[in-house]
Amino acid sequence: MSNKNKNEIIKNLKLQQEIFGDELFISKKKRSSFMAKEPTSNYEEPQLFPETKDDSSKIKTDWEKITSLDEFEKLICDCTKCRLHQGRNKFVFGTGNPHADVLVIGEGPGAEEDKQGLPFVGRAGKLLTDMLKAIKFGREDVYIGNVVKCRPPGNRTPMQDEMDTCLPYLKKQVELIKPKLILCLGLTAAKGLLKKKESLGQLRKNIFEYESAKVIVTYHPAALLRNPNWKRDAWEDLKKLRRMYEELLG
Ligand code: URA
Repeated sequence: MSNKNKNEIIKNLKLQQEIFGDELFISKKKRSSFMAKEPTSNYEEPQLFPETKDDSSKIKTDWEKITSLDEFEKLICDCTKCRLHQGRNKFVFGTGNPHADVLVIGEGPGAEEDKQGLPFVGRAGKLLTDMLKAIKFGREDVYIGNVVKCRPPGNRTPMQDEMDTCLPYLKKQVELIKPKLILCLGLTAAKGLLKKKESLGQLRKNIFEYESAKVIVTYHPAALLRNPNWKRDAWEDLKKLRRMYEELLG
């Protein structure tokens, strides 16, 4: 099969997964062998958790003492805990107001983010900036991060073990930022953070809690670019976020 066709299939499966979750998507076994492969190049899947130089237990005790995002970024930016570091150009820690009331969480860096070391700076990022603006937030008012900090090869969905390995970093960021509200962009971000198995449609209907922050879930801006029909529902979610913000913060 040509790479073009393969990419088209991957794009459509991702789109389906955004709405329906894993159940109607593809069996887990097939998915891990299929999605783990770099679709556009001769990327070779490295061994799971190759031996690395870092002493994880030391890092853990060090970062538990950390009290600022800057310090934390310096400590973890050379992370080699999962296979994603192997294709990384830049570690994408996150950006924005270090004391934001609203934390926005995406899936993982894409090509442009990997190049610049900043989250949501590509096409989806531009739409995210507009979405935030529509509910009266500038990018500098909120904090923007991702469930994984390194770009998955070929922009594939991060794998569960990669998200699980990276999640303590996000958890520490939440502990330092202390947001009141978290907006998860897309099913992968919601699954990575909340460990839920429901579809995006179901998750959107609920309000969750994470480390005492209220969490809501909406479409990923990249999904909205592919399917503008979902923008109306996304707009309802954004208005809900703004209402919750005003209720919580007066
Ligand atoms: N998509 C994401 O989920 N995160 C980014 O940082 C960019 C695109």
